[in-house]
Amino acid sequence: METNNNVKTCLCGSGEYVVIACSGACDLGQISDLVARKLRDNNIRKMNCLAAVAADVKPTIEMFKEADLLLIDGCPVDCGKKILDKAGITNYKYMRMTDLGYVKGQTPVTSEVIEAVYEKAAVDF
Ligand code: SF4
Repeated sequence: METNNNVKTCLCGSGEYVVIACSGACDLGQISDLVARKLRDNNIRKMNCLAAVAADVKPTIEMFKEADLLLIDGCPVDCGKKILDKAGITNYKYMRMTDLGYVKGQTPVTSEVIEAVYEKAAVDF
């Protein structure tokens, strides 16, 4: 958190192009998170927080509704998708890593895998 003009703001990115990830504990969740950070670091999309939606942070939810939003989920449990759906966020791009052929619990978190998913996210979305 950073204090600016006595208003507490966080450093999460907002803008026209935004990415969020399920950031789950398993290999695919970790990769989803690392890919989102790589998109941010390469100025493809701003990264923001899926957890803020789960916490019903209204400004974030409203910003997501206006943005070109990409959500990366790791597996068919679809945690991110369920959180967005419950918040009424319907207009977003969606990438599920198992749809790309990666297997939960059997995918090494390597730079090669991260790069391959990143390329898919950056080019296709
Ligand atoms: S979508 Fe799958 S990988 Fe992501 S947090 Fe949920 S259970 Fe974990």
